[in-house]
Amino acid sequence: MRILVVGGGTGGTILANNLTRRLTSEIRAGRVRITMLSDSDRHMYQPGLLYVAFGQMTPDQLYRDQASMLEPSIDFQVDAVTEFHFDKNQVKTQSGKIHKYDILAIATGARIVPQEVPGLSEGSENFFTEEGAVRLHRRLREFQGGTVAMVVSIPHKCPVAPVEAMFMLHDFFKARGIRDKVKLRYHYPTNRVHATSNVAQWAKPEFDKAGIEYETLFNLKEVDPVNKIVHSEEGSAVKYDLLISIPPHRG
Ligand SMILES: Cc1cc2nc3c(=O)[nH]c(=O)nc-3n(C[C@H](O)[C@H](O)[C@H](O)COP(=O)(O)OP(=O)(O)OC[C@H]3O[C@@H](n4cnc5c(N)ncnc54)[C@H](O)[C@@H]3O)c2cc1C
Repeated sequence: MRILVVGGGTGGTILANNLTRRLTSEIRAGRVRITMLSDSDRHMYQPGLLYVAFGQMTPDQLYRDQASMLEPSIDFQVDAVTEFHFDKNQVKTQSGKIHKYDILAIATGARIVPQEVPGLSEGSENFFTEEGAVRLHRRLREFQGGTVAMVVSIPHKCPVAPVEAMFMLHDFFKARGIRDKVKLRYHYPTNRVHATSNVAQWAKPEFDKAGIEYETLFNLKEVDPVNKIVHSEEGSAVKYDLLISIPPHRG
């Protein structure tokens, strides 16, 4: 049996390793073969992006060699899948190879698409890519005071990241000695500060304690990067000096 895992991120790696451990005897006997195709030879620890944005990790600390994360019997190949042919149980890769399978697991993750919201790419920073996190860190270091606004599109990777980031902003500016010069504003699309009710119940009083302002039912409509105003579908308009976004995701 040929098991093909596409994507060498968290999901693909956990799945391939778990299957390998459970199917050890079948693999040894040659009855099962597990192949992983990924578009990179590196594995990124994505939660670390938040720490890069706040200067607590360097970008190189995010990465490990993907092959070193895998059970040795997994046939790991760096070759992005470009076409899925479900009717033929096969995929085609960037190098032109065809891989046939009996069982296919697609674990190609999600990517951000800020370009889907007018003005968001030009008007906001984010911590969902290495480049984004590095740029946000520079902006935070250079920030001298004013309004830092967070806007959230859901669903997104790591549901608690925006709440976590608000408290990290509070601590960051406190450590820089300019917390009193910074207004922190949090905007969330549902009718409470987080989609998960116990997170919302916990976070709301903690926001109050930290002096973090919040607005719920704020569904991101567009950003005016020239005048630095972010608009919601509900008709709210918020002036900012630094806008941090959790952009829409696709994948
Ligand atoms: C800032 C941030 C903080 C986070 N914090 C946490 C946390 O605290 N706790 C937690 O549990 N999760 C956290 N997450 C979420 C977690 O990182 C993701 O849920 C997880 O990485 C998703 O795993 P995945 O395998 O689905 O996708 P990914 O890890 O994104 O992996 C997808 C893989 O597929 C590969 N790929 C893509 N397209 C192709 C193709 N065509 N062919 C071959 N390979 C392809 C990519 O190169 C990548 O290796 C955080 C995420 C972010 C961004």
